[in-house]
Amino acid sequence: MSRALLRLACVLFGASCAQAASPLAVLRMGRVDYVRATDVAERLNLRLRWISAHQLEMADSAHRVELPSEGRAATIDGMVVYLGNPTATRGGGLFLSKVDYERRLIPLVRPQLGGPPPARPRIIALDPGHGGSDHGTENPRLHMMEKTFTIDVGLRLRKLLESEGYQVVMTRTGDSRFSNYPLVDLPMRSQFANLKHADLFISIHFNATPPPDKRTRGTEVFSFAPRSQRSSDSWGRNEDDSEPNQQYPEPAPANRNDTWNVVLANVVQHELLHTLHTEDIGEKIAHWLVLRGLNCPGILVESAFISNDEEAGRVATPAFRQQIAEALAAGIRDYSAELDSLRPSLPAAASQPAAQPSVSPQRALMPPQRPS
Ligand SMILES: [Zn+2]
Repeated sequence: MSRALLRLACVLFGASCAQAASPLAVLRMGRVDYVRATDVAERLNLRLRWISAHQLEMADSAHRVELPSEGRAATIDGMVVYLGNPTATRGGGLFLSKVDYERRLIPLVRPQLGGPPPARPRIIALDPGHGGSDHGTENPRLHMMEKTFTIDVGLRLRKLLESEGYQVVMTRTGDSRFSNYPLVDLPMRSQFANLKHADLFISIHFNATPPPDKRTRGTEVFSFAPRSQRSSDSWGRNEDDSEPNQQYPEPAPANRNDTWNVVLANVVQHELLHTLHTEDIGEKIAHWLVLRGLNCPGILVESAFISNDEEAGRVATPAFRQQIAEALAAGIRDYSAELDSLRPSLPAAASQPAAQPSVSPQRALMPPQRPS
């Protein structure tokens, strides 16, 4: 089958072109399989050029990917996206890990190659973090506890979503843990979502850094790390928590939704940044226990740092918490619309040019504002 016909078949039948097309040549470096950026750009129909000595751009009319040489912090459509493995240079060429190509780039630039999209979400599971004896992070100077604000945002978001016709289930509606046994509190939250047949799971949190750091601020959204990759924030601590490992020899259920976890994280991070005008500290991956057992796509959201007095002051206002809830609701709407766009009716699909991006070009071309 010619490549053009192959692409058309992918659009028509939702086949995974990444799997159907011949695999990219792989170069093993250490324990990681890498693919050449030039091959990736060709496969995804992106123009490629070095924009500085240390930065490679891959772009088309709808998307712009900026990859660092030998780093993890990429920029995709104006947003910071952490790769699971550092990029590498060999012989003047840039390489990125095969997992990053398949589980980060394809979902964000060519999601139509990520396989058939899940059903349009109807049942949303909200997980206000912590509760009861688990206060979460705290700001003792301002007498703030994370658990107070996660439940407030959760209840605000439930109201918004129910008014839009979604069915909402919550892991807690009052000041209590989900389970009094700390070891199972987190996995039971995802099991609850599974039992309720949730189509989407949003875990709501607020961030903090240990004292004496009061400066760190911003918004980050996490999805569960693809198998073999370590948590974004583990590199500084030099703790390799990649799987399989002794504790988790089997693949995580969440990994079945790697593509859609990333799509969801991206649209939600985009809405949060646009609405809150907070600093973009990145879309990241982590082995959060609360996400691990999910059968549906899910993310963990850290909208702001309550250890930063200025951001904590904003979190303390109902108006800001309402903005967070509205941004999350908008993210869920965007996600739903994106899934719909990946399920075009057959006649419409046949008339579309093959391998064009399905992500809303409007969204893709609008980088979020950053604080001055
Ligand atoms: Zn938390």
